[in-house]
Amino acid sequence: MSNVIAIDGPSGAGKSSVSRIVGRRLGYLHVDSGALYRILTWQCLAAGVDMESPEAICAFASSVDIECRPEDGRVAYYVGGEAPGERIRTPQINANASKVAREKPVRDKVTALLKGMVKYGNLVVEGRDITTAVFPDSPARFYLTASAEARARRRQKEEVDKGIANQSAEAVKASLLARDAMDSTRKYAPLRKADGALEIDSSDLTLDEVVEAVVSALPKEWRA
Ligand code: C5P
Repeated sequence: MSNVIAIDGPSGAGKSSVSRIVGRRLGYLHVDSGALYRILTWQCLAAGVDMESPEAICAFASSVDIECRPEDGRVAYYVGGEAPGERIRTPQINANASKVAREKPVRDKVTALLKGMVKYGNLVVEGRDITTAVFPDSPARFYLTASAEARARRRQKEEVDKGIANQSAEAVKASLLARDAMDSTRKYAPLRKADGALEIDSSDLTLDEVVEAVVSALPKEWRA
């Protein structure tokens, strides 16, 4: 049986950085579930799918084959042998991912991929519904949050540092809040804090402090 650390929270709360570091520290594979929804969104957009048509989104998304492979401390994804890289982090994908992620057949597809990853070993999985729907029985469940301002600041810096976009903090904040609103009000597996998940507000914490808060709350035998 693999151990699964489950981390949910809104966009820009620091889930990826925290998950990556916790994973490295414990030797657990990092699983970025949002990247799977982003890949399906990227593929839909590249194929010219009508993003206002749930039927078109579901039909096309079901045909996309995502290869998952444990690699360099994470589960890496490939489509047609190609790694998506930063192509799935653009403002256009940010604006459309929630439309794809709200569809039940899409969620079922991604959830099945995520559940299947336990065969690779111990995991730290981050997303929006990991603690509530994908791995609700994990004894290590976290809800990571931060103020909208702190989240927008981090995302904007990341976009500029990686050369993805050069938007104002206000534009990034508006995009984050729009996505959070859709993610938390959708019908299937909405973003919410699971009962029993430990909430960590990272607004005034350093990355190291958040990592420490997560690691110290893990079952003792997982920390060895
Ligand atoms: O985490 P990230 O910002 O990359 O996620 C992109 C989008 O994928 C989210 O805004 C959300 O709509 C969707 N998502 C989800 N469930 C997850 C992870 C991401 O619905 N477990």
